[in-house]
Amino acid sequence: MMDYQLNVPAILRRADELYGDREIVSRLPDKSWHRYTYADFVSRTKRLAVALRGLGLSDGDRVATLMWNHHEHLETYVGAPVGGFVTHTLNLRLHPDDNTYIASHAGDRVLVVDKVLWPLATQFVDRVGFEHVIAVGAGDTPDGAIDYEELVASGDESAFAYRDLDERSAAAMCFTSGTTGLPKGVLYSHRALALHALTAAYLMGVNEGDTILPVVPMFHANAWCFPFTCCLVGAKQVFPGPHLDPESLLEAFEQEKVTLSAGVPTIWMGILQALDATPDRWDLSAMRSMTVGGSAPPRAMLEAFGERHGLKIVHGWGMTEMCPIGTMSGGPGQELGLSTEAMYDKRAQQGTAIPFVEIRARGADGLVPWDGTSMGELEVRGPSVSSSYFEAPEAADRWTDDGWFRTGDIVTIGADGYVEIQDRSKDLVKSGGEWISTVALENALMGHPAVAEAAVIAVPDDKWSERPLAVVVLREGAAATDGELRDFLAPSFAKFWLPDRFEYVDEIPKTAVGKFRKTALREQFASATPVENV
Ligand code: ADP
Repeated sequence: MMDYQLNVPAILRRADELYGDREIVSRLPDKSWHRYTYADFVSRTKRLAVALRGLGLSDGDRVATLMWNHHEHLETYVGAPVGGFVTHTLNLRLHPDDNTYIASHAGDRVLVVDKVLWPLATQFVDRVGFEHVIAVGAGDTPDGAIDYEELVASGDESAFAYRDLDERSAAAMCFTSGTTGLPKGVLYSHRALALHALTAAYLMGVNEGDTILPVVPMFHANAWCFPFTCCLVGAKQVFPGPHLDPESLLEAFEQEKVTLSAGVPTIWMGILQALDATPDRWDLSAMRSMTVGGSAPPRAMLEAFGERHGLKIVHGWGMTEMCPIGTMSGGPGQELGLSTEAMYDKRAQQGTAIPFVEIRARGADGLVPWDGTSMGELEVRGPSVSSSYFEAPEAADRWTDDGWFRTGDIVTIGADGYVEIQDRSKDLVKSGGEWISTVALENALMGHPAVAEAAVIAVPDDKWSERPLAVVVLREGAAATDGELRDFLAPSFAKFWLPDRFEYVDEIPKTAVGKFRKTALREQFASATPVENV
């Protein structure tokens, strides 16, 4: 067989040849709509690739983005790798200190940033030393930045050629929160993205007749590969821009006749509440499935969508290190012959491994049987699984000696191959799809003069899936209120990181080696009523 390179240029070429008349729609910051065709998108993407080269970039150079989901982000997403560069998505929810570290460690040379996000960007741009900053959207271009439209216009489309890029070279990059230490970079190869785009199309039956609105941010693990999948199969794409409230999303679903969408449980909980409040207000008859992932969705939510609103939720589990999908539940054909009850039971589980992802789980005594009750840490391998972190040799222990990736998720696997997450060995909180480092909060809290010891745990939350709770031992004779501790943390962390509950104890339970016994804390405080120490 031919040694054909599976790469992003091959995806764009297909969109170029076959899908010129399909639409791409974005909601702009002022809530108006921008519409153009794939033909426009392809032409602008080619010009961008040429223009980026003109800025002096070489193969493999990183192009950072700090943007909401919209068509210019899509152009950069595809244009950078098509030009031989690497798209590096920065997470706009992170603290500027984290983005400073992440962009510096990645060696980003260029930043493409939404003008509406400029107030956020100014908090770290100068500390990183980007060679070029490119500003996107309406309004004034900040001093020293290049206007995105001028850059695209300067690119000569006739100078563009589809390149036979090595499929093993890097196309994209995303950082993930480390359990300990600094965030870790994941480099996605062209091959991994091309294979994953195709797999995602198969898993959700995505085709040219679909209209897809990814609520999941493009700065999160390739927006679950939807941008590439859509280009590969010619699906219409609808981007919500910064408007992620339930009402705006429902308007977009109805107006554009969206057939597929994807987001974290927090998004779907908000949509469910809006639909429950006024069930007849929106016509969602075009919607054939909505994907949920990133955190465990409550079974009751899956059932409520199905039974009250006739809407199907498909459930996926994944990781930044995996492009990101690892397992799926509720996909085409997966529920044949199941009773309604059994169907929702299964859909609440994380599902079976997708093609070309292998799974196994390891307990204290080695690999555990697939019996639905034995627990172990999930290990994975496959062409869309990362084999190392970017320049972080200290994290090599996340891979087993025989090359499997340790996920940090504690699971059971059923005889039918269904994975169910039971716990997490990663000491993190996942709130609204975003990670919060408990260790970082603890270290900061223990820097407060009144705090002797502090442990932070995740507690279940109806809206955000999880929220951080701080368990604090005060120094003898010292006093502190919740408000004082929160104010103390505020300058160093993104606002959503700040614990909304503090509990004061005489002692934090410890393991034999002196570590906080967080399982005991979780049992004690998971459902306790908050008491403000004011
Ligand atoms: P993503 O961007 O896909 O959320 P992250 O790398 O930030 O990826 O987070 C991956 C982790 O999130 C998993 O290891 C797991 O702990 C959690 N997670 C992701 N999807 C699910 C799910 N469907 N159910 C439970 N936990 C999940």
